[in-house]
Amino acid sequence: MRPEALNPLFAEIETLDGVGPKLRKPLTRLGLERVRDVAFHLPERFVSRRAVANVDEAGEGEQIIVALTPVEHRASRNSRGPYRVLAQDGAGNVIALTYFGRASYTARKQLPVGEKRWVAGKLERYGDMLQIVHPDHVLEEGGASLGHLTEPVYRLSEGLTQPMVTKLVAQALERVPELPEWSDPAEIEREAWPSWRDALVLAHRGEHPAARDRLAYDEMLANSLALMLVRADNRRRQGQPLRGDGRLREKLALPFPLTGAQKRTIAEIEGDLAQDSPMLRLLQGDVGAGKTVVALEAMLIAVEAGAQAAMLAPTELLARQHFDTLRRMAAPTGARVEILTGRDKGRAREATLMGLLDGSIDILVGTHAIFQDQVAYRNLALVVIDEQHRFGVSQRLMLARKGKRAPHVLAMTATPIPRTLTLAQYGELDVSKLDELPPGRQAIDTRVIGIERLAEVVDGIARHLQTGQQAYWVCPMVRDSEEGDTAAAEARFAALQGRFSADAVLVHGQLPPEAKDAAMERFASGHARLLVATTVIEVGVDVPNATLMVIEQAERFGLAQLHQLRGRVGRGAEKSVCLLLRSSELSETARDRLALMRETQDGFRLAEEDLRLRGGGELLGTRQSGDTPFQIANLEQISRLLPIAYSDARLLMERDGGLEGTRGNAARLLLYLFERDVGVRTLRGG
Ligand code: ADP
Ligand code: MG
Repeated sequence: MRPEALNPLFAEIETLDGVGPKLRKPLTRLGLERVRDVAFHLPERFVSRRAVANVDEAGEGEQIIVALTPVEHRASRNSRGPYRVLAQDGAGNVIALTYFGRASYTARKQLPVGEKRWVAGKLERYGDMLQIVHPDHVLEEGGASLGHLTEPVYRLSEGLTQPMVTKLVAQALERVPELPEWSDPAEIEREAWPSWRDALVLAHRGEHPAARDRLAYDEMLANSLALMLVRADNRRRQGQPLRGDGRLREKLALPFPLTGAQKRTIAEIEGDLAQDSPMLRLLQGDVGAGKTVVALEAMLIAVEAGAQAAMLAPTELLARQHFDTLRRMAAPTGARVEILTGRDKGRAREATLMGLLDGSIDILVGTHAIFQDQVAYRNLALVVIDEQHRFGVSQRLMLARKGKRAPHVLAMTATPIPRTLTLAQYGELDVSKLDELPPGRQAIDTRVIGIERLAEVVDGIARHLQTGQQAYWVCPMVRDSEEGDTAAAEARFAALQGRFSADAVLVHGQLPPEAKDAAMERFASGHARLLVATTVIEVGVDVPNATLMVIEQAERFGLAQLHQLRGRVGRGAEKSVCLLLRSSELSETARDRLALMRETQDGFRLAEEDLRLRGGGELLGTRQSGDTPFQIANLEQISRLLPIAYSDARLLMERDGGLEGTRGNAARLLLYLFERDVGVRTLRGG
């Protein structure tokens, strides 16, 4: 049960003044559903404004506050165009206040012609005019006081404005209680950290690195504790030692000899599986290194030992593909492989559930559906997680409680994860590396080409398809927007279809699953020759005859992601090519990054560079990398503070075993606060 002290924070967001059904949606889009979420919605940055008497005292790009008198409202002829309010300053300079979409209604109300207003925002140039797009504030009087303030800037979504969010945050902060201290007093003193509550308030008020660090540390401490609690729970529940006799593995008729790295890794896994305590091992191996067959060998060991194994894939698409591959490879062994995803319904699903329960299914492949409550196994002893970056603590606990005894876990990833990040994601774990590619792989010829040469590229594709080989076309990533990705892919597909007609198929995340599968199937079987896609094809897809990849607006992708995408080609005997299409104007860093793609195919090196380049950037670094389990802590804070948080968590666990005592109880609060309370549930009385 959540401690009462936290109830005000976990109240629904509607309990804040001004939040009704209309605001609910844009708030949810930002992940803001409860008071707590608002309090933790930290500013992306801060602005300080300068009050100016006239706009010509200010420079372009400057954040200003100025008194203006609206002279004219101009709606655009087309409904999607901007709405402009022309307004005059004291010296008679006219500037435009520009609004898009529904914001124009606000403009009509707030800026009546002939009435003076204080307007705050960023001064920009538009043609020969100065303008402010979506002013941050429009006030009737007293605006001068904004001139010297530092104001937070929050991440917004359509329908929200800075003042709205600022007001909600202020209300949320009023409800934040003082909480007992869970951190080590010595630590707090050394770092000169404020208390948790003060840190939260300060972090919204201005650039307070110590406050930000404190909150990030708290989040990482909570995560570390939860991971340790789940791990301890796992150990208490014991594993199931699995010793295979080799009778199934020897029937595997692989068309290739295993690489040395594969053999070594399989031996490591075999050793772990034979132990009482459950395995927790990460298998890192670059794209194409051959992780699937390692997973199969591991699962066969479980089956030989009379148990079941399950493999979790991140998407439906990958689950189907793994299912096909594993079933084909396992056929000679007689092991029964089945699939279960959210889409299996009715009779087929019932049959699968029965088979799992009576033990006639040996290996199950699927999406998260394989861990639902209704899915019961006769004896699940090994779980393989493929490419799962977002496999958090709660999933781990759920999984651990699936069998009578905690199953062994093998996590596989093509992203070489630096140690601090594995610590964040998994806690303490063993690592195997597939650091040797299967023989005969050719380097992928990578080229960077300006988008102005698009026509040539399309001609190149036509020639490529004529040789009987296939190609991928990956569409630009639109930041934070799946719809945007889809729109881009659809537009490009329409254009390419004009040239390639039925040879081209389109796959994106918003397609109905059946349509997606059908398109993939057409491509995998060679009926379609050109696959136009969003990044849904990023991981795992395996079509050896596809030897050309075009990535549009390549500069928008992270290096690790480009590497993953590129790994879709170069899987067969033919020479493969990857064309990185870049926009005409690129920053120097962007150029360097793309050059690095051309230079190396070493995934580890690319991942390190990627982390370095992404980690350093942002001022406050609220931008998330996507592959960390954190909401507050950024990459820089992770590398600096996580090791400390982790060892503090260990001390706390050891000293107050089971989180008893004053600090232990405070730490329980912390776990609830950061929603790592699954950890608490492993404790007696939790
Ligand atoms: P990943 O590590 O990216 O998951 P896969 O398991 O999909 O890689 O393997 C990539 C390709 O390499 C597959 O077509 C697989 O059959 C093949 N492969 C795996 N191991 C070997 C090997 N030892 N020798 C040759 N080919 C191999
Ligand atoms: Mg794979």
